Order: sequence, then C-alpha cells, then structure tokens
Amino acid sequence: GTNAMEIMEAITTVMSTEGVLVLMDMGSALLSADTALGFLEDEQRARVRCVAAPFVEGAVAAGVVASLGSTLDEVSREAEGALRQKREHVAGEGAMTPDPNPKAATNPEETIRVTIPNPLGWHARPAARFIREASAFHADIQVRNVTKGRGPTSAKSLTGLASLGILRGHEIEISASGPEAKTALQALRPSVESGLGDSLAEPSPAATVPPTTTTDEPVPVSSGLAIGPLFFTTSAEIAVPEEKVENPDNEIDRLHKAIDEAKAAVAREQTALRSTLGKNEAAIFAAQALLLEDPDLLHRAEAAIREHRENAARAWANAYQEVAANYAQLDDEYLRQRAADVRDIGVRVLAALGVARPRVGDLPQAGILVVDDLAPAEVTALSKNVLGVICLQGGRTSHAAILLRARGVPAIAHARATFPRIGAAAATAAFDGDTGELWIDPPSAKIEALRTRMETQRIAAEEAARIRHEAAVTTDGRTVAISANLGRVGEAAAALERGAEGVGLFRTEFLFIDRQDAPSEDEQFAALRQVRETMGTRPVVIRTLDIGGDKEAPYLGLPREANPFLGERGIRVCLSRPELFQTQLRAILRAADGGDFRIMFPMITELSELREARAALDEAHRVLAQSGVPHAWPISTGIMVEVPSAAMLSDQFAVEADFFSIGTNDLTQYVLAADRGNPALARFQDALHPAVLRMIEQIVTEAHRRGKHVAVCGESASDPTAARLLIGLGVDELSLNPTRIPAIKSTIRAARHGDLQSLARRAIDLTSTTEVRSVAEGRDPA
Ligand code: PEP
Ligand code: MG
Repeated sequence: GTNAMEIMEAITTVMSTEGVLVLMDMGSALLSADTALGFLEDEQRARVRCVAAPFVEGAVAAGVVASLGSTLDEVSREAEGALRQKREHVAGEGAMTPDPNPKAATNPEETIRVTIPNPLGWHARPAARFIREASAFHADIQVRNVTKGRGPTSAKSLTGLASLGILRGHEIEISASGPEAKTALQALRPSVESGLGDSLAEPSPAATVPPTTTTDEPVPVSSGLAIGPLFFTTSAEIAVPEEKVENPDNEIDRLHKAIDEAKAAVAREQTALRSTLGKNEAAIFAAQALLLEDPDLLHRAEAAIREHRENAARAWANAYQEVAANYAQLDDEYLRQRAADVRDIGVRVLAALGVARPRVGDLPQAGILVVDDLAPAEVTALSKNVLGVICLQGGRTSHAAILLRARGVPAIAHARATFPRIGAAAATAAFDGDTGELWIDPPSAKIEALRTRMETQRIAAEEAARIRHEAAVTTDGRTVAISANLGRVGEAAAALERGAEGVGLFRTEFLFIDRQDAPSEDEQFAALRQVRETMGTRPVVIRTLDIGGDKEAPYLGLPREANPFLGERGIRVCLSRPELFQTQLRAILRAADGGDFRIMFPMITELSELREARAALDEAHRVLAQSGVPHAWPISTGIMVEVPSAAMLSDQFAVEADFFSIGTNDLTQYVLAADRGNPALARFQDALHPAVLRMIEQIVTEAHRRGKHVAVCGESASDPTAARLLIGLGVDELSLNPTRIPAIKSTIRAARHGDLQSLARRAIDLTSTTEVRSVAEGRDPA
C-alpha cells in the first residue's frame, strides 16, 4: 500500500522479537514506507528492514530462508538477492540498483581448493562451524572432497558434509555462485585453513579414540536380566531391485511420493507412541521426519536417477546407506548414533517403494537377538520371542535404546569387542541390562544363580501386581496416594485396572493436537464425561490446555519462537485467548457434574495468573448458570508447580491455591537450564538433582504450613529411587504412568517413612544427581 498509516499498522501487527521485513515496490511505496517508520518507537524501528525486492520472488525467497530460522539480516539479504536473480533472468529490465558484484552474477562459479589441517578431519564441530560461516553469505556454496572424489554437496547440509568423509590432508574444493560468491570464498579460505576452531596440534592418543571405545566392555542400555540362545541378524540385508528405468521423471515422482508416505507413517507412529511411551520417546520420530526432508539425501538420489537411470529404490538405497556409513564414522558419539536413524528412514522409504523390510525382530524360538545396531521402528516391531537385545554398536543415547527402555526389553550395547572372539556360531549367553555384564556360554552354576535372581524379580513383580489395588502404606504407617497420568480418555479404564486410586493429571492438550481445528465445547465435554463415568467419584485432576513448548496445534497460530519452552505456553496461551479458554472451562465444569473433578492450571509463574484463571472460571460458571446448564460448582482449583518462580513463591501460592502438583519434568529443565528433550543433556534430565530437591522441599513445607495437598506428576514419580526421595521430602501423592503403579506401590510398602526422611535430608546436602543416586541406591561411596 501507499498509505503510511496502514503500513505502520501492518508492521506493528506482525512485529516480533525477530523483527519485520518490509518488501517495497517502487515510487511512492518507498516514501510511504519511510514515513511509516517515522511513526515507530526507536526500539521497534531498529528491528525493521526495508528492501526493494520484487513482491513475489522476494517474498518467496525471504519466506524460505525465514523458515530455516535465519536472522532478519539473512532473510532480507535473501529477498534482495531475489531481485538480482530476477534481473539476470529478465536481462536489462527493471534494474533499480546497480549489481554490486557484476562479475559474480555473470560468472557464477568461483572456486578455491584448500587442504584440511584438522587432525581429526571434519567431525561434527568444524563441519557445523563451516555451515554457520558459509550460511552468512548470499551465495550458493558447494563443497567437494577432491582427494576422495566425493561431492559436491551443499554447504548448508550437515548430512552432506558428513558424507564427504573429509579427513586430515584431504584437499577440498569450495565453489560458490551468487552475488557474494567471491567475498564468501575469501572469508572461508583462512577459516578452513586455520581449522575452523579445532586445535591443530597432534591429538594425544586418548583424544583420537572415540569415547565409547575407551573401554571394550558392553554398556548397560535397558534394565533386566536375559538368558537364552543367541541369534545373529544384520539389519542391512535388503534386496533392492537393480533394473534401470526409461523415464527418470516418473521415478523421481515415485521417490517423492514414497518419502511423503514415509513421513506420514512416521507421524502416525509418533502419535500412537505418544500415549503408550510418553512424548520424549515419541519425539524420536520427529527427528526422523526432519531427516526425511534432508535436501542432500534427496539430491543424491535424484541425481542417480537422472544421470544413471537408476530406479528410485536403488538410487535411494545407495544415497541413505552412504550417508549412514558416513555418520557411523564420525567422531562425535551422538552424531554417530544417528546412523541408525538414517538407516531407519531409509528402510521406511524403501518399504513405501515396495521393497520388503527385513524382519529383524522375528526369532524362531525365544532367545537373545544380536544386532549390529537397531532402528527405532525395529524396536517397536520386536516379537515376544526376543528376551533381550545385544547391540554390537549403539549406546545409551541411541533412539533405539530409549525405546528399548520404554518397552522394558533388557538390552546392552557396544558389545562388538566381545563377539568377534566367538564368531557367529550360536551360543548361549546371559547379560544384565542394569550393569552391562555379559556372560558367553556361562557355566551352569552361573545360569542357575541368574535364573534364581530373575525368578526373585518375577515373583516380586507378580506380588506387586497381585496387591496393586491395595493402598501404598509405608512400614511405619504413612499412606501415599497413587494416581494415574492420562493423555487419552481410553486409558482411564486400564489405569483403574492397574491400581490407580484416581487421576492425578489428565493432559487435556491431547484433545487438541493432531487435528485441523480446536475441539468444540461438546466434543470436549463428551471426552471428559467418559473419564468421569469410568472414574466414578474418584478424584480426577483435569489440567487445562498446556499447549506450546514441544506440543503444537498449528491451527492456534502460535507465533514461531526462538525458545518455545520459554515462550507462550500453558496458561499464557489460555489467558491470551479467552474464547478458547472459556470453551474448555465450560466443558470441564459440565463434565465434572456428579464426580470429583479438580481443575489445575499449567505453567503458572505468578499469582496474578492464578487469579486471572480463576476469574475466567467464575465467568464460565456464570454463563452456564445463566442458561441453566448443569455443572459442578464450586470446584477445587490448583496449580502445576513447574516454573521456578512458582516454586520460590510457593508461600504466596499456598494461601490461594487449593492444591499443588509438582511437574518435575519442566521444573527440572527450568532449574537446571537443560532442555528436557536434548539427549546430549541426559545427565541433567533427572529430578534428583539437589537443586530440584531443595525446591521440592520448600514447596512441600509451604503447602503443608497452610494444610494444602502436594502431588508430584512428573516422570520422576514413576522411578522407584525418586519416588522414595519424594516421599521422604513429604509429598502426599504420586501421579504416574499407569503401567508403573504396581511397582511404585511395592516400593512404598517396602520402605519406612522415617528412613526416607533421613535419606531426603542427606540428599539435599549432596552436590550432584550422581551423588544423590548413588547414596539413595545404596552405592554410597563414602
Ligand atoms: C511436568 O512438567 O512435569 C508435567 C507433568 O507436565 P508435562 O510433562 O505435560 O509438561
Ligand atoms: Mg509440564
């Protein structure tokens, strides 16, 4: 538009912390945009870039780059670049500004060759640094490994760079085209020559050894004992057709469709697993969805189809296997374990192209499966015959490892050093998934002893299951309420069956995700009514919508944020969308009629939010009452204590909230500044850190001072060691994954509350999670 006021309004409407890019046409638009900027506050004006870019090409280019999470300046450079590209196409027309780099535009190829000085080659860190530096330029940059004859690949693809296998002494070629081609290469040369931040000194012998090979011992992956015959399988044996094709376009089309199909399958599995395994485990599949969009993988396969007339399956198989092999040889432990993910998505796409997936998990009789590495999808398909899994490679942080734990299949990994010695001849083995101990052809006395231990564990589990409906009372008479965390209406009956005394957390956001629009009041009412009918008059805590963070509902149009966990999440979303909130509150109040529902608000940070949420609840009640709709009133309202500020202000909240439920998943991530989903920070994803324990102690003290009830509904409640400490700290209720209820009740019955209190007092004076765990688990070094 050419109306300055409207332009200003438009700018303020879309203003965010990232800023705003304004695309200007010619003539009066330039002037009006300039005038509009004059109306803005200085601070806002600093976050606006105006570029004279063509509307269509500029907006598309800017949109693509913005979606990659680039900075405002990068986005604006991209929009401007679109103009130059357009001018190149429409030679001589519409040239508004002189081309700053005519040589680059007319002669797009600029090339340099550099020899790699890094002692360990381009492992993850220098490769990532190269990507960052290369991305700063408005240029299309490609890298080739001249020594190995590999590439070229885009300088923006980590997968691509990994696949070049760049090692010390290799010569690489960096070529660039685009307006900043020359500048980019001038800047990149010294950076690459100086090692991209790596030390160029000869590495010490220890530094050249990848971390997991410092010991040849297997590592524990998933708890439990396994004894049985060994079955060796390799996951790589897939019969891929070799025929050449006549029509590459058709074949590329087939490949795209197969990738889309694989993406849909991943999304379906993610949704299904979210309720059975928990969302952290299900998030594994989100990472796989990203790999399915990797441009490098796709380009490799497409090039093979076009240039060598390969069929889609053959071209794709070569592409993903090469990329996986390159990941597998990286120095970075975490990246190395991504090889299994690449193979997994590889096999998924092949399956969509009609190539049968090898059935790794089928054993002819009960036994132990020995695999090189296991893909996440293979874990979900393991048959009941698999008593345990030994991975020759892998490690604790592989996605398959997380899934094995979630499924309760005993497993160890990194056992390669053990197996070459015995070859592939079937033998019997036993291993302990808690310690990593492995016995090949153990003597009968050892088998006997292990079987006795397994039997003891089995009897304990059976006993726990037998008395699962009885209360959890410590030996000295303290009763702890045990309730279930539910994400779906259908899980309520199974939770009761497993011994739940009520529902301590019903995550209503699952009614909102994986759909195109928000559920209506009646839809929400129907779902909650079902929970109410299943649970009768048992207590049910309904948590209001906790969307945001890692839980998305695209139709709500939440802003893209740099740090979603620190962004508009939970109650913040509801308070800024009164209609959405009112609809949900009315549905809850109606469903609560005749039952014992309580309402809990998530992500509460300060008292004003609880007051505002309560006012909203009063309004929902008023509307229902006015139209004579039956509903529960008054209703008990509490808060999730999961933001550190709420924990620190628990004395204030204890006055006004009816109850507390501590969300240790979020409280831990916020207290320790460690993203709850980042596998590299696994050691901080444990609520037993003394800092977290001290907060819980404070919360309990303040709540009890005012006679208020405190539950814990984070994952820690289902961990026996954590449960003991939480009870020692005075927590009144544990709300957990229903499958863990029998075991946690037994843990409580076996303990004396007085001992747990002493243990908790000792734990809060320790210095780390590791110390707390070793003391609590009786591995006290002191
Ligand atoms: C928590 O944060 O501990 C919690 C129970 O909530 P959620 O995992 O749904 O964020
Ligand atoms: Mg939470």
